[in-house]
Amino acid sequence: RTSIIDLLVPWAQTIPDSTAVRTPPGPDRVSLSHLRFLGEIEAARDRCRASGLLPGDRTVLIAPSCPEFLIEFLGAHAAGLATVAVNPLSTARELDYILEDSDARRLVAHPAMAEAGRSAAIGRGIDFDTLPLVGNEGPSLRLEEDGVAEFDRVDFDWDDLAALLYTSGTTGKPKGAMLSLGNFIATTDIVKEMTQTSPDDRSATGLPLFHVFGLADMALPALSAGAPLTLFPRWDPQAFVNAMAKDEVSIISGVPTMWMSVLTNADGAATPNLRLVSSGGAAIAGEVLRKVEARFSAPVAEGYGLTETAGLGTFNPLFGTRKVGSVGLPTPGFEVKVIGLEGSPLPAGEVGEVVLRGPAVMLGYWKKPEATAEVLDDEGWFRTGDLGHLDEDGYLFIVDRIKDLIIHGGYNVYPREVEEVLYEIPGVAQASVVGTPDEKYGQQVTAVIALSPGAHLDAEDVERFARENLAAYKIPRIIEFVKELPKGPSGKILKREIVAMYTKSS
Ligand code: ATP
Repeated sequence: RTSIIDLLVPWAQTIPDSTAVRTPPGPDRVSLSHLRFLGEIEAARDRCRASGLLPGDRTVLIAPSCPEFLIEFLGAHAAGLATVAVNPLSTARELDYILEDSDARRLVAHPAMAEAGRSAAIGRGIDFDTLPLVGNEGPSLRLEEDGVAEFDRVDFDWDDLAALLYTSGTTGKPKGAMLSLGNFIATTDIVKEMTQTSPDDRSATGLPLFHVFGLADMALPALSAGAPLTLFPRWDPQAFVNAMAKDEVSIISGVPTMWMSVLTNADGAATPNLRLVSSGGAAIAGEVLRKVEARFSAPVAEGYGLTETAGLGTFNPLFGTRKVGSVGLPTPGFEVKVIGLEGSPLPAGEVGEVVLRGPAVMLGYWKKPEATAEVLDDEGWFRTGDLGHLDEDGYLFIVDRIKDLIIHGGYNVYPREVEEVLYEIPGVAQASVVGTPDEKYGQQVTAVIALSPGAHLDAEDVERFARENLAAYKIPRIIEFVKELPKGPSGKILKREIVAMYTKSS
């Protein structure tokens, strides 16, 4: 019986005054030591207890990435509650759906989102609280006379629910992925081990914490390794690069669109301290990876996972052979298979659906046994909905999502393969390839491109390059230029929106 808090308490004893978590550099910077951080978590736990909720109840949290998010999440956890972390950009309708589906009893919102949060809570007749903002003064954890840190909390079992994270998955309404305490502890330990994070590191991220990558794969491992963590509430590439230099950051994590925006919209290099760029959430094009490594003089290690697997599955080994284009090897405790249509494992090199088994695989979808049974079998194997293949050494390569596959006149076109080529064209900052409806071919290969500032390219230039590098059926026949590609809350390019945009306007 343990708790996520147990991963943090030792630092309150050994390096009590070192920074646990902080806001970006600037005059208003808030920086919390380990003692302060745990003191604030205690206060949040007491608020949860006072609210009358019982262990196992769900509490909704709406906030940008900030220390208060983690304080509330961990305070709720210490009181035995499960947090439903919600994207602050959710519409009233989306929020209401989550409140209803999760049977939440309480909603806590950051002051900037208080109005929307309050009216949603009133609509469902549940408690509402505004998230208290912390400053540089406030409660600290009390150390015993012998220097031992005590933290009173509810003891959990491995399979107790710690969070419900909603994901839209492939079809239908969003589903709540039930992540257990065991899932979080396993992910934290595995990421710490894979990245060898220590108190000598400095971590920074612009990832949202309501998304699994930010919370489970980035924030908790950094905190539990005692590495000061800087959180950016909104993505600003220049501010991020400046902070990397000022704080002598050694580990950064993000999704590929963040790295692309650094390449096109920010000046300045990293300091020599930078030792790891952890990239995940979506495929990073080989060309982008190479440019980021050249710019930052640090390795980009790509990981692969889903909300349903607490963001884990595979990671390109930092201390071993790192294969560019691959999402690496199974992380400790994980197994990966690629299966064919009838469900049997395929040999190396053959493309099929990627299935994962390991300690971070969710308990299931909240109140959706049928949807759970579709993805999770009795032996614990989880179907990812992604196409991939293994190589002879067991490295996994993600080809694409099954649902993004384009079928053009009977031929399979993997958008990612076309995107990789487009990124090689000088001046292409962002590119996304989707299938749009076409009377003759069923689907047409459509490329939507954002150019780097000052670049001049037209559709003919793009087509010419594609023709030199791709088979005829893979060449984009529709090429659109836009200023920005639509992105989702975690910064990933939203293909379904691109398809909808194009389908509507054609
Ligand atoms: P939503 O919940 O909004 O639908 P989503 O479908 O992207 O978002 P997530 O759980 O955030 O849900 O993302 C998981 C998916 O992200 C994987 O199934 C895979 O398609 C993609 N992915 C994650 N990491 C990588 C990677 N390194 N390379 C390629 N694809 C990746």
